[in-house]
Amino acid sequence: MLGAGIIKGLVETARNFAGSYTNEERLVTVEYPDEKLPPKENARNFPFLVFDGNDPLAGLRCVACQICEKECPPQCIYIEKSKDKKPDYIGKPQFYPAIFDIDVSVCMSCQICVEVCPFEAIKMDQEFELSTTDRFEGLLLHKDRLARSNEYYRKIHPTEAAEVDRRLAEEKIKAEAKAKAAADAKVKAAATAAGISSPTASKPVPAPATASVAPTKPAEAGSSPAETKAWPETPTSVSATSAAKPV
Ligand code: SF4
Ligand code: SF4
Repeated sequence: MLGAGIIKGLVETARNFAGSYTNEERLVTVEYPDEKLPPKENARNFPFLVFDGNDPLAGLRCVACQICEKECPPQCIYIEKSKDKKPDYIGKPQFYPAIFDIDVSVCMSCQICVEVCPFEAIKMDQEFELSTTDRFEGLLLHKDRLARSNEYYRKIHPTEAAEVDRRLAEEKIKAEAKAKAAADAKVKAAATAAGISSPTASKPVPAPATASVAPTKPAEAGSSPAETKAWPETPTSVSATSAAKPV
């Protein structure tokens, strides 16, 4: 029937309106800001930077690769890369952001920065109470204000954070296995090199007597071993012949 959906909707509204006086479950609004509804898991507002451990700045996952800065459509991210490096979550030395700012007065919450980050370092926050009287500095968030712990990320996006944790743990295991294999190969190579250069290995092996005689005679096609053996005496017989030759 035409308009049945509208009538059903109006009936439901009337039921909730009347029922809310007797049943609190039928209340669809709360008295904000005294009361706040918990946000849905996939709700998002502005980005934040994830850090591991207890130190918000030392534990930042961001390696200042600047991909998010380049991809941000309204260009509201500003990053300056550090000159030195610090170990990342698997102990690999990495650059870190000396400066990481997001101007949330410009950010459009598109989440592209999150999608392009290869290090799971930037995620979307759910905090929305950011109103300020300072329209410039108040909405330009620096890295100390952007840094949020991984526990916080797990709390606001539990499903997504669990998947990220699983992936990072797998990558860490792979990286550790690779590092161990490389270290083993290095030790093996060092041991082989030490074996070659050891006194026992470098000691010259005395050659057989026949071998030392043979190379002194130029090879002659068809010469027999007997001829080879008799060769050292030849110069003597030649000089003897020369001496006997009449002048
Ligand atoms: S959410 Fe979109 S607009 Fe905001 S910082 Fe990330 S990429 Fe830029
Ligand atoms: S947040 Fe991610 S993409 Fe952006 S600079 Fe840091 S590591 Fe690179």
